[in-house]
Amino acid sequence: MAKRFVIIGGGPAGNTAATHAARLGAEVTMIEKDIVGGAAHLWDCIPSKAMIATGGTMARMGRAAGMGLHEIRTDLDLDVLASRIHSIESRLERANVELLASQGVRMVQGTGRLVGPHQVVAETPDGLVEIEADVVLLSTGSRPRIPDWAPVDGERVLTTRDAYPPPQMPEHLVVVGSGVTGVEFVHMFRSFGCDVTLIVSRQQVLPNKDPEVAAALEDDFLSRGVRLLMGARAVGVEKDAESVTVLCDDGRQARGSHALIAIGSVPNSDGLGLDLAGVELRNGYVVVDHNCESTVPGVYAAGDLSGKLPLSSVASMQGRKIAEHAMGHQGGSQRVLDYDKAASAIFTVPEIADVGLAEADAFAEGRKIRVTKVPFSANAKALIENDVRGFVKIISDPATGVILGGSIVGRRAAELISVIALAVTAGLRVTDIHDSLLVHPTLAEALADAAE
Ligand SMILES: Cc1cc2nc3c(=O)[nH]c(=O)nc-3n(C[C@H](O)[C@H](O)[C@H](O)COP(=O)(O)OP(=O)(O)OC[C@H]3O[C@@H](n4cnc5c(N)ncnc54)[C@H](O)[C@@H]3O)c2cc1C
Repeated sequence: MAKRFVIIGGGPAGNTAATHAARLGAEVTMIEKDIVGGAAHLWDCIPSKAMIATGGTMARMGRAAGMGLHEIRTDLDLDVLASRIHSIESRLERANVELLASQGVRMVQGTGRLVGPHQVVAETPDGLVEIEADVVLLSTGSRPRIPDWAPVDGERVLTTRDAYPPPQMPEHLVVVGSGVTGVEFVHMFRSFGCDVTLIVSRQQVLPNKDPEVAAALEDDFLSRGVRLLMGARAVGVEKDAESVTVLCDDGRQARGSHALIAIGSVPNSDGLGLDLAGVELRNGYVVVDHNCESTVPGVYAAGDLSGKLPLSSVASMQGRKIAEHAMGHQGGSQRVLDYDKAASAIFTVPEIADVGLAEADAFAEGRKIRVTKVPFSANAKALIENDVRGFVKIISDPATGVILGGSIVGRRAAELISVIALAVTAGLRVTDIHDSLLVHPTLAEALADAAE
């Protein structure tokens, strides 16, 4: 008899697990309460990048004069932007549903929960559906963290979910939180012409990133007129008829028309019946082992709920790993998920991307490394495209030349980092990149130069 594989939550983790498990012969049921594609498509990756794409086009048009083009109007039409975002989401959802259907995955629209380690119920518009499972995957994702002191109302005090796009463009947006999400929203709203203040709780934006990379972003923000309040921890938000004021612990204040709270997320583990099934949680996240299996055999967790790296790409890879492990697939069962080798990007302009070992971490560990850095100002394609900001940095082992990590700041960094990600995963050496015959003129040539 085919294994019964039940998935609660149809984001990147759930979707990928569903198609892989079905291909490996499982009888798959996926329960999803909103849209297939998950928060990633509805609230996170897709709408944010669609907004950034519009802002990026506006910014490029702003620089068009330097390329011999004049009088380009860039008035933003919020209705067109909103319907464009909606249409991208719908197309992706349709593609996902078609793929799942073609694999024979049964889709249940409803809210799922465990009533035992191998029993799931779904509350659907037509009533309760009970489903027996040999394998359960919990992939219900996360939602924005809202602190007690932030009176989020979806109108003037916002989370990221209220911003796609907001009914009115803020005149002055105060962003609380300078992690990846916070800085992407700063960049996005500044591109639309809003005044922006960013509250930075430490002395560096992107506190977990290479200081040189963070400094490049800070310089860019300052040159674009973003106000940075460094070393300020937000502790309250006051609202009146016209304005919002963010209060900081050291007495500083930032006044604007709107505030956006971007201080991380909380896992969607409540109401899932995890206590009934005996699934262990830590800080609300499901405790999983290296196979993403929880403390209950046959019950897995993936994506944001697993408390590992909150990235769509990681969620998908975990989903695949789980399908292979649960189905006893030979190669997949042995695949080790190395979260340290996950590439990530920040879709500001210039873009920021990194993978593997960071220079600062190597120094902290006292590890010997070789760092090579090349600016885009010497790259022909960057000059042709009229944007020479940023650099490529490659970190390698001085003894063997094996590439350990890298970071890129600049145009198309999120695409270019794939080369270094492949090198890090495959254990390639700097000479492997340097000896490749690349296309000229391309931004990728900066990678070969940095690998010299
Ligand atoms: C603003 C923002 C931008 C981001 N941009 C990027 C990016 O560019 N690249 C990137 O890699 N990552 C990005 N991320 C992170 C990424 O969105 C998440 O890591 C990813 O969505 C996690 O996938 P997931 O499968 O865990 O769940 P999700 O995508 O969160 O999906 C979970 C699904 O489960 C459903 N669900 C929840 N509870 C139940 C239930 N009880 N029953 C049935 N269904 C349920 C939800 O409706 C949802 O559809 C971004 C995050 C944010 C906040």
